[in-house]
Amino acid sequence: MQIKFNIAPKTGNEIKYIQESIESGKICGDGDFSKKCEGWLTEKTAGKCTLLTTSCTQALEMSAILADIKAGDEVIMPSYTFVSTANAFVLRGARIIFIDIRPDTMNMDEMLIENAMTEKTKAIVPVHYAGVSVEMDKVMELAEKYSLKVIEDAAQGVMSSYKGRALGSIGDYGCFSFHETKNYSMGEGGAVLINNEEDIKRAEIIREKGTDRKRFLRGQVDKYSWVSEGSSYLPSDINAAYLWAQLEMADEIYEDRMSTWRKYREAFKPLESRGLVEFQHIPEECIHNAHMFYIKVKDLQERTKLISHLKEREITAVFHYVPLHSAEAGYKFGEFRGEDRYTTTESERLLRLPLYYQMQEADQQRVIDAVMEFYA
Ligand SMILES: *Cc1c(COP(=O)(O)O)cnc(C)c1O
Repeated sequence: MQIKFNIAPKTGNEIKYIQESIESGKICGDGDFSKKCEGWLTEKTAGKCTLLTTSCTQALEMSAILADIKAGDEVIMPSYTFVSTANAFVLRGARIIFIDIRPDTMNMDEMLIENAMTEKTKAIVPVHYAGVSVEMDKVMELAEKYSLKVIEDAAQGVMSSYKGRALGSIGDYGCFSFHETKNYSMGEGGAVLINNEEDIKRAEIIREKGTDRKRFLRGQVDKYSWVSEGSSYLPSDINAAYLWAQLEMADEIYEDRMSTWRKYREAFKPLESRGLVEFQHIPEECIHNAHMFYIKVKDLQERTKLISHLKEREITAVFHYVPLHSAEAGYKFGEFRGEDRYTTTESERLLRLPLYYQMQEADQQRVIDAVMEFYA
């Protein structure tokens, strides 16, 4: 039996809630389940305002509009990330400035940010890779010093924290993903966290096609009309119903993933102590969410061999992120500033192992045995 890399999380209440949503007669955005999810997320992150979106990509796009990113502005981010982190700003006409990562967390190296700045720099986009936080104190210190916006790509960071603060709630805006490959899912979906009171009204308008419909629904204005630029970023309540079935069991999902994560970590310790593989570093001030279990092997060649070794044993292991600066669009829309010491080489060594909610113990063991066999 094939061990898949990922299986979308399913807790058992999804159908019931979807049915409830349908029977409520109100399946468009901002319905009862959307409100439940948003309320839960705001409480969990101790945030000010959470708005569900149709993806993290769109949460990032909304953030780029909110941050007033204009043609010619520069935005600093790691090259080792998903395309949406960059595209959201490219769509506003910005130039993407890629900086190197730290090899221990695969996150942007906070000590390289200041050198990458010019007068055109408008925003910093920390990506919390694998649900482990970027060194946010430094990022926020620089943002304050130079009056820059901070947009957290916390797509992988739901339920993770930095010095006790939820990822996504630290910068000006935080973006979550509820894609089926993430810890909590609604198929396709996301959320944007608005962390400054004065941005909330604008965010609601941008998300509702540039209208003040949300204020109208709350009875604050007697008709709604076109008040600014905007688009349709809100998901159907049917999708939110699916998500609610996950969020109400968030702790269970968290614990379940964490136990698989710990099991892998324990099992591969002998490989790590012999220097055959490297583990992800979890800094002291970070609590992660077991979004991902990866190992770093010797080099690209060894990784290719290990992937096919696992494939022969019907196990799907994947890597990702060809660094954006080396992709066709990366040349066109951005540049790498500083030296690429780690981005390319470290990304070539990283391999992700299967990890999903309710992964069977026997399957975990098969993965462990297969990796151990490779190194035997
Ligand atoms: C998954 C992911 C995204 C995109 O999320 P969608 O919800 O699929 O749009 C963006 N950034 C990072 C780092 C991601 O992992």
